[in-house]
Amino acid sequence: MTAQLIDGNALAAQVRSEVAHRVTALKARGVQPHLAILLVGDNPASQVYVRSKVADSEQTGLQATLERLPADTTQAALLARIAALNADPAVHGILVQLPLPAHLDAQAVIEAIAPHKDVDGFHVASAGALMVGQSGFRPCTPYGCMKMLESIGYDLRGKHAVVIGRSNIVGKPMAMMLLAANATVTICHSATADLASHTRQADVIVAAVGKRHVLTAGMVKPGAVVIDVGMNRDDAGKLCGDVDFDRVKDVAGWITPVPGGVGPMTRAMLLVNTLEAAERASA
Ligand code: NAP
Repeated sequence: MTAQLIDGNALAAQVRSEVAHRVTALKARGVQPHLAILLVGDNPASQVYVRSKVADSEQTGLQATLERLPADTTQAALLARIAALNADPAVHGILVQLPLPAHLDAQAVIEAIAPHKDVDGFHVASAGALMVGQSGFRPCTPYGCMKMLESIGYDLRGKHAVVIGRSNIVGKPMAMMLLAANATVTICHSATADLASHTRQADVIVAAVGKRHVLTAGMVKPGAVVIDVGMNRDDAGKLCGDVDFDRVKDVAGWITPVPGGVGPMTRAMLLVNTLEAAERASA
């Protein structure tokens, strides 16, 4: 292995410890940062995610309230719950766990969250703020990737970054954050012709596709930074990313593992956003 590992677990632990210090300072001023999580239905993966969000919050001194709503909750009932949480000054962050049951309009639900409580950063106001360079909540996954780049002291100015994937929650905001950090950014997607011709020119590659081995060693310039957002299962059912880690690690300069890379950082950045929501509300 020639690449240096960017250890998401270690960095996330550091972020959590910084959050815990700031939470202590807020509590000393009588403010208890509070995240409200709404879970509709009983999707097994969502159950695991919300449990870990609650545990992470409690570990750093944030209050997290998990509200479980039945799978047949109506759009009107869910919007009414969100309106109540928007109006509650003791709640600083609101997170609606996705995916929602098919009969619910997820985008309308996200838009119902007050932008100043949108700690997932999925509201169009948050996306717009990122687009025009205003302060606002950044989606946790690309925000975590930026922290990883910062942690290795990587200066993005003038570097060529290639983002593979253009979803609203990862690829597009990732590209915007890299652009804001003065990288030259290429966004690739399923209709991109000759993906390798783009990735081979990249100083930084962020893979956010959801397909195993989308990025192989021959597609990477020696010394490049490779950030693997993907979460897939290999033939043995083991968690793996989008990157052929075992081979790409011999070409890249820096690489994130899966598991133990972007995943823990995504979780950590939700805590940062919730803390910042509470800090802004009490400023
Ligand atoms: P998504 O909405 O399905 O988007 C995937 C993107 O990949 C799309 O833009 C798609 O292009 C593109 N794509 C598909 N096949 C491609 C190919 N062969 N070559 C180039 N691009 C291709 O997924 P997402 O929500 O962004 O998530 C991406 C992955 O990250 C998933 O594995 C997800 O589980 C994982 N994830 C991980 C974390 C974490 O914390 N680690 C957080 C969020 C997501 P089109 O737009 O043309 O369809």
